[in-house]
Amino acid sequence: MTHNPIRPWRNIERRRSRQIMVGTVPVGGDAPISVQTMTNTDGHDVRATLDQVIRAADAGADIVRISAPDQETTKALREICRESPVPIVADIHFHYKRAIEAAEAGAACLRINPGNIGSAERVAEVVRAAKDHGCSIRIGVNAGSLEKHLLEKYGEPCPDAMVESGMDHIKLLQDHDFQEFKISVKASDVFLSAAAYQQLAEITDAPIHLGITEAGGLRGGTVKSAIGLGNLLWAGIGDTIRVSLSADPVEEVKVGFEILKSLGLRTRGVQIISCPSCARQGFDVIKTVEILEARLEHIKTPMSLSIIGCVVNGPGEALMTDIGFTGGGAGSGMVYMAGRQDHKMSNDQMVDHIVELVEERAARIEAQNTAEAAE
Ligand code: SF4
Repeated sequence: MTHNPIRPWRNIERRRSRQIMVGTVPVGGDAPISVQTMTNTDGHDVRATLDQVIRAADAGADIVRISAPDQETTKALREICRESPVPIVADIHFHYKRAIEAAEAGAACLRINPGNIGSAERVAEVVRAAKDHGCSIRIGVNAGSLEKHLLEKYGEPCPDAMVESGMDHIKLLQDHDFQEFKISVKASDVFLSAAAYQQLAEITDAPIHLGITEAGGLRGGTVKSAIGLGNLLWAGIGDTIRVSLSADPVEEVKVGFEILKSLGLRTRGVQIISCPSCARQGFDVIKTVEILEARLEHIKTPMSLSIIGCVVNGPGEALMTDIGFTGGGAGSGMVYMAGRQDHKMSNDQMVDHIVELVEERAARIEAQNTAEAAE
């Protein structure tokens, strides 16, 4: 997917994993790395939860997870799953009956650790429900909730303990001839999580769900996730991701996409290249970019846009972007199309003009794609 024969230094060699389906979304193998988030509404409230799922899907979420702690929620799941534009993962802890109800309600995947639900018969029942309803399962090991016997064996949460926990859960599923699973080994500590994922990637071909759990607030958690997930993705590890932020789920999706876009692993919407604070700027770049980001949020077609304050780097950046604007003197700048100087534009009309150019280009590409798909 990321093979670039002209610029081999951009290539990422992805680990070969098995492919499973989460509803209609393939995870693993050569499928695009999917982006997930989780709702934080009251799961009993179908309307509020669906609205949040739809907002996350509009922002690009491929899969959305919903907590299912009680029977009321698994009941509400039926309508949510039916109306949702993306597959729903039901997040279950401990209670096997919730898992069975969620599978019956149409969840595409169950996030459940088979080792935590009790007897072998209960595991068998959950696996049977998953098979009967076409559900996959995510094993979700978390450094904060490792099994007691592993904490006693290893003394503290460590990569070996997390991987052993994951492999124990995997064995339980495989003993029931169930292969439609993916796995995560999350920690809030970047080193711990990365080491656990690296070990895991060596010993299983299961698709890997990446995450740095409880990463923090919007700014700190974004940086932490970018370092943790970025490092693993760059090494080719990871088939689906969730950025865990103390922030709106839509922000998690946006940050997830930004991480993948930075590594060339996914494309979506307008990628803006712009100047930092600098006194040479011929117009207010920071304010302009803020406005453009908001006004171009609805664009899903991948394209690049450079908004550069002066000619020091403006023409060079414009060479590598689809549309560019470089500030000049006397209240105007130069618009570049596909790397070439195209026309001048006054600074005060520039935002409206750039939005128009981006929208036109997006509409053209979408029409082309539709025509090609119809051929
Ligand atoms: S391109 Fe010009 S305005 Fe932008 S950071 Fe460089 S010197 Fe400053």
